[in-house]
Amino acid sequence: MSNKLAFIMLDGLRYDTAVSQMGYLHHLIEMGKASRFKVKSELPSLSRPLYEVLLTGTPVFKNGITSNQTVRLSHEESLFHLTKKAGLKNATASYFWVSELYNSAPFHPVTDRIQLNTEKAIQHGIFYWEDHYPDSHLFYDANFLMDQYEPDFLYIHSMNIDNDGHLFTADSKEYRNRVIAVDILLANILPKWMEAGYQIIVTADHGMNRDGQHGGTTAADRDVPLFIITDKLKHGMYEEVIPQLQIAPLACELLNIQPSSAMQKLSFPKLK
Ligand SMILES: [Zn+2]
Repeated sequence: MSNKLAFIMLDGLRYDTAVSQMGYLHHLIEMGKASRFKVKSELPSLSRPLYEVLLTGTPVFKNGITSNQTVRLSHEESLFHLTKKAGLKNATASYFWVSELYNSAPFHPVTDRIQLNTEKAIQHGIFYWEDHYPDSHLFYDANFLMDQYEPDFLYIHSMNIDNDGHLFTADSKEYRNRVIAVDILLANILPKWMEAGYQIIVTADHGMNRDGQHGGTTAADRDVPLFIITDKLKHGMYEEVIPQLQIAPLACELLNIQPSSAMQKLSFPKLK
């Protein structure tokens, strides 16, 4: 394995549903190839604020992305900025809010849908704006970027789990079945990505409650999974609860780049 990292962010995936429904990822754990942790999300447990948390390692009161309506470029140094600064290549297949945070805001579909070879923080991006844009297509958008540009850092951001959570609540066969469907997508694509030498992170921004919402402080809102495939970690299922602010410095460690000065010092357990 190299220092390359594919960071997969499954929007709205709560911890217990990931644990009960994601058979392929747990197969990797049983085979000693992956690790699982529980992450406690930052607050508020909303999408855009937590995209910024995951990608910059800064809390909302500092980064100022306080709600989904905060439509502006980030003021922080993101994993895109840091990889570019380190001379690495980055790419993403993501919801359009990621483009608004790191490349340009507001998002214009006519010009911003596909952004390749840019001078901006995100060097190669394919962005969607419908919450029902199929995850099946998204993962192959990401695969295209991987094959075409061999990015050191590839960020993949899916939306169908969150969308079904809002439509049917977390306590529904639709939500649970969508999580199974994403696990199957991962079963189809991850063997190729691992073969290509990529380390893999799979996590979520926030969870989903029985009202079909998130934003509050309950375990349903805040507890999300973290699966890691890397040679740099002793594999297994761990009980430690990881603060979400640790994810960005963890990504820097896996990428072997300098974290930003705003990030927490990495105190991640079990790293070799
Ligand atoms: Zn949502």
